[in-house]
Amino acid sequence: MIPYGRQAISDQDVEAVVDVLRSDFLTQGPAVERFEREMAAYCGAHDAVAVCNATAALHLACLALGLGPGDRLWTSPNTFVASANCGLYCGADVDFVDIDPRTYNMSVPALRKKLELARAERRLPKVLVPVHFAGQACDMGEIRRLADEYGFSIVEDASHAVGGEYAGHKIGDGTWADITIFSFHPVKIITTGEGGMALTNSPELAERLRLLRSHGVTRDPAQMTGPADGQWYYQQVALGFNYRMTDLQAALGCSQLSRLDDFVERRTQLAQRYGELLADLPLTLPWQDPAAKSAWHLFVVHCQQTAERGRVFNALRAAGVGANVHYIPVHTQPHYQRLGFRQGQFPEAEHYYHGAISLPLFPLMTEADQDYVVEVLRKALAS
Ligand SMILES: *Cc1c(COP(=O)(O)O)cnc(C)c1O
Repeated sequence: MIPYGRQAISDQDVEAVVDVLRSDFLTQGPAVERFEREMAAYCGAHDAVAVCNATAALHLACLALGLGPGDRLWTSPNTFVASANCGLYCGADVDFVDIDPRTYNMSVPALRKKLELARAERRLPKVLVPVHFAGQACDMGEIRRLADEYGFSIVEDASHAVGGEYAGHKIGDGTWADITIFSFHPVKIITTGEGGMALTNSPELAERLRLLRSHGVTRDPAQMTGPADGQWYYQQVALGFNYRMTDLQAALGCSQLSRLDDFVERRTQLAQRYGELLADLPLTLPWQDPAAKSAWHLFVVHCQQTAERGRVFNALRAAGVGANVHYIPVHTQPHYQRLGFRQGQFPEAEHYYHGAISLPLFPLMTEADQDYVVEVLRKALAS
């Protein structure tokens, strides 16, 4: 089976992890600090806080921004459930903004319309989570303008977009978002096995993220309610979690980060090649915003006849091509249906879902692998 995504682990990656195994620190220690420093420098962010996965990073980001019961978080229905669940973890209400049928990202006109209505009803969101679907950035300039006008914070879910760019800025440099979230799951652009990160230019938010990452416990006298009892002293000053990343993971992260640009370049080459090889087929290929430089987490083709998706998908799988579907709209999941969401509520996301297929795309994919995927797809569409 050719998988839809797969990690690329080198001997250098293996050595980096083994070195940590022989060192004094296994859990959060100097390698985590180094990974945070190197990632912040790569992106041009002031601060980076590494955690155990991107879901934890989304949760901490919402908490750091003060999201709680009675507040609202809005995100895209075309995402993994974690982008919405983080709002529910905080006791907030979650709602969705339908997607743009061309980019599959959150639609800015739909967002503007929903904000106007929400202002009239005094139901404005506190946090917006735009998701850079497949690695292509949302229209962040416009979303920032709306954030300033309506007074909400932006947590960009850049799980797909590590190494990508928007308007000449690296994703994560904090030009538009208050907090940027990365995932280092093995199918993503770089991996730490499990892992995530929150980047921000706000020292206050960074301090809050660090505190909540480790139980809300501090050894910093400046954060305590009174003088320390002695050198052993620590205080729990908030209700935090154990969301730490291990040094084993961070060492892998540093080693992978040194090849991030190569990974994005290879993904881009393969995506361009898919574009050429599939140009004559009755499929909609991913449209690219000239303002964005995608990290190409996914290559999604859209079947123009919806009835075809199941048949084509089954033919790919039967021939050993690990196609996948990203995403089943979050509001159609039973958990969200129980919260009151209905089929038909976000029609663009639903229409997109019914035709979407993610083709295999990962740095170690060969051109022969790709030719095979294209041949199987071509036959399936012709039959
Ligand atoms: C992978 C992913 C997540 C969750 O990442 P984890 O590191 O597995 O917790 C969140 N949002 C999106 C868009 C993702 O693709």
